[in-house]
Amino acid sequence: MRSVSLDEVHRSVEEVVERLSRHHGPRLNCRIGCCQCCVDELTVFEVEALHIRQRFAELLEAGEPHAEGACAFLGSGGDCRIYEARPYVCRTQGLPLRWIEEVSEEEIVEMRDICPLNEPGPPVEEIPEDLCWSIGPVEERLAKLQASIDGGCLRRVLLRSLFRKAARTESPDSVLGS
Ligand code: SF4
Ligand code: SF4
Repeated sequence: MRSVSLDEVHRSVEEVVERLSRHHGPRLNCRIGCCQCCVDELTVFEVEALHIRQRFAELLEAGEPHAEGACAFLGSGGDCRIYEARPYVCRTQGLPLRWIEEVSEEEIVEMRDICPLNEPGPPVEEIPEDLCWSIGPVEERLAKLQASIDGGCLRRVLLRSLFRKAARTESPDSVLGS
């Protein structure tokens, strides 16, 4: 069976994100310059880190990471400097999110959340399931991709550590095992 590429995963995410963004458009305040969700300390699977390395080698080699306290890739205008190659986790920010959580051995509950800036509007608890972003399936696809290159170690990489200038001051643990 043919293996799925990271580009294909990102493309399939974008298709759903576009549909959901169209539907929820009036309540979404996501725009360039709004970057409270671009937090520091984000880690991604190594496959997504390699994707960024391949496409933004010059930035990583010579560029300055954003000051600590926000994502290293945040630009001075609140833009994402690796937008086309941004990791999965950045692509669904702002949408109504749903996920399944096992709160005890007997109880499994569905959780909901949305960025506080996008909260005004119909309560997220009342939004039909197919109009929320479901956390879980894409994470599984990414984990499979990662397992195919590291034999199941599921290594994660700190985004900030991709910058050569940040790497000098990072601890050797910047490539993390999960
Ligand atoms: S990679 Fe881009 S979109 Fe993602 S947190 Fe960093 S600046 Fe924000
Ligand atoms: S998710 Fe929230 S903080 Fe991030 S861009 Fe959208 S409105 Fe702004």
